[in-house]
Amino acid sequence: MNGKTRIWSDIDFEQQGKQVSWVNLPHSVTRSAYGMIAIPIAVIRNGTGPTAFLMAGNHGDEYEGQIALCKLIRAIDPAQVQGRVIVMPAANLPAAMASARVSPIDGGNLNRSFPGDPERGVTQEIAHYIDSVVFPMADLFADLHSGGSSLAYIPFGSTNEGPDADLNRRSLAALTAFGTEYSVIWKHADPRYSPGAAIKRGLVQIAGEFGGGGSVNRRMLRNVEDGLWRVLKHMGIWDGPTAPAPATRYMNVPGLDWHVHAPSPGLFEPATDLGDWVKAGDVCGHVHFVDDPGRAPVPCFFKRDGLVICQRHPARVERGDCVAHLAVDGV
Ligand SMILES: [Zn+2]
Repeated sequence: MNGKTRIWSDIDFEQQGKQVSWVNLPHSVTRSAYGMIAIPIAVIRNGTGPTAFLMAGNHGDEYEGQIALCKLIRAIDPAQVQGRVIVMPAANLPAAMASARVSPIDGGNLNRSFPGDPERGVTQEIAHYIDSVVFPMADLFADLHSGGSSLAYIPFGSTNEGPDADLNRRSLAALTAFGTEYSVIWKHADPRYSPGAAIKRGLVQIAGEFGGGGSVNRRMLRNVEDGLWRVLKHMGIWDGPTAPAPATRYMNVPGLDWHVHAPSPGLFEPATDLGDWVKAGDVCGHVHFVDDPGRAPVPCFFKRDGLVICQRHPARVERGDCVAHLAVDGV
């Protein structure tokens, strides 16, 4: 696991100005014996100062962040930068090009693959490159998600709590600068996920969920774009005008008890909408059996009180699919 990455690039992370290029992951297959997976990267540097690492496409079917970062790469003027911005808009490129959550090459979920391993396949190699090459250069890490093909979210910025109180405080300040209507503090930092890995490297980290259902939501895209500029300004990296941040409501997800899973395979009819407040015992929805219409639908229930911030997008469910989860007030 401590091996050296084989990923290489013509990018010079110390060079002044804007570079837009690729990091290359050697990948030998029948179609291309000496081929590479060319993962896009941009580095914008001016003078000295902190480094922000902005990432999307951790999951390939989550699009607002991917688009926002492509727009930021083209828009950002190095003359207005003090420090460095590293951008990877499609970090798990094979998944992004397949519009899939996981890699079509090895089934790897990049956000369960940290800190990665250069000997264990392409997804682990990408995680290892990010963790061992990019993270050590960065002060702040922003990882932009959405609900993907299977979930829809109320848009929110987020951060994960780690063991370092001062780092938690600085991440919360960056999250507040990012500025979304809701800010979620995840009460755990699994080291297989990118925020957990970033915390181990001592980085200020923010993330977020912006929409879902495999679509692009204009309002949420604007949310991401405006928030990124505000964070860069907060870090002292970028000096330009920003849209004012909306007042935020701090929320958290205390645990799995705030999730609801499908009790049976079938068609799921939700009983709530995103943004509804519910009580423990309220009906979350029913699973219907269209191949057996005389059979009574099976209900499922919320186990806790909270705000519905996430719901399943496709109607067809298997037993165990997450159909909704809640958040509660508080940091
Ligand atoms: Zn995601």
